[in-house]
Amino acid sequence: MTGLNTFASEDYDTEEREFIVATFSELAQVMEVDLKEELNTWLYGRVMYTLMKAFEREEPEKAAPTLTQACTKCQAILETVLLDKREAIPSACFVVAQCQACTALNLIEVPNGVGRIHFGNYNALQRLDRKQYTPEQAKAKLDQIRSSKK
Ligand SMILES: [Zn+2]
Repeated sequence: MTGLNTFASEDYDTEEREFIVATFSELAQVMEVDLKEELNTWLYGRVMYTLMKAFEREEPEKAAPTLTQACTKCQAILETVLLDKREAIPSACFVVAQCQACTALNLIEVPNGVGRIHFGNYNALQRLDRKQYTPEQAKAKLDQIRSSKK
């Protein structure tokens, strides 16, 4: 692209630059060549454009991983949405979940590395740290809470 190099972008204000870019874009379309990258580089400068490209390349946000399990009593689907997954956070725990449909208590196991949790279709009554509770102890705790509620 020799044409653009004859214009030093500093000599123009933003409006003029955009006009020039628009003009070249039209020309490029007429000539059926792809000048988008060169035009953007010229318009925004190399650093800005590289930054813009870097942001564009970023993956669109993926749906948060969701644990689902059926309520042991009514089979309603209990959803646990895991947000802010960070491996450094040792967050593994059991959640004592009260089904919103039938109020039965369920035990939900949350893996490590989860910053925030969004609960769906149940109320989280208690969080049992995996460091303090083995699965057996968590179940025993669940039974204990169950019987205390009767
Ligand atoms: Zn239920």
